Amino acid sequence: MNEQLKSLIELQEIDEIIDRLKNKEKGIPQQIEKIKILIEEEKNKIDELKKNLTQLQLERKNQEIELDTKEQTMRKHLNELNLVKTNEAYRILINEIEKTKGEKNQIEEKTLELMQRIEDSNLEVKQYAGIFNDKQEKNEKEIKILEEEMVKIYQEITEKEREREHIAEKISSSLSARYAKIRESKKGIAVVPIEDNHCGGCRMLLPSHLINEVYKDQAIITCEVCSRILYSPHTFVREDVIKT
Ligand SMILES: [Zn+2]
Repeated sequence: MNEQLKSLIELQEIDEIIDRLKNKEKGIPQQIEKIKILIEEEKNKIDELKKNLTQLQLERKNQEIELDTKEQTMRKHLNELNLVKTNEAYRILINEIEKTKGEKNQIEEKTLELMQRIEDSNLEVKQYAGIFNDKQEKNEKEIKILEEEMVKIYQEITEKEREREHIAEKISSSLSARYAKIRESKKGIAVVPIEDNHCGGCRMLLPSHLINEVYKDQAIITCEVCSRILYSPHTFVREDVIKT
């Protein structure tokens, strides 16, 4: 019986390790997904900046065409000046020329402003592209580390499961089934030590006859409240605890 209980404690220890590893493994794909979303967001941002720059350049081109048209009008009016016959027609033409000149100036002012915006936008795209490349490299490295970690954890789990099989072989099938059932209903803890006359699981004060039974170490004794299997901490002192 002693050996059975000892193996059961070992089994629980290894099951806890396997649970922890599986939890860790389960969380990694989500972490990778988060990084991928981040990369996508960064990509969208740089696309947005580039789109903005293209839009400004298009505006600039339209302004050039507009300016060209105004200049042509100006030239046409200046030629016409030589052909006018009346003072009235001359006055009208001068007015037209002044008006076109004003419009041309306005476009030129706007062009200057637009050129500044294009310069700023260009700089922004360049700067962001640098940041983006650095971030991309960092993110891809992070994904690689996580993927490697996942493989490592998977290997650890396989190894621990093999160890678990060796231990489980030593335990009777009825006790194994009992252990599994308690473990499932008690959040992974099925075997607990007596701590200061209390159940190490539910903390209830244990009756002395029950404690004596556990100390006799001849049968599997369970806590009357939480049904967990009890063991004496004096009987099963963990070897690694002794060493330290
Ligand atoms: Zn209990």
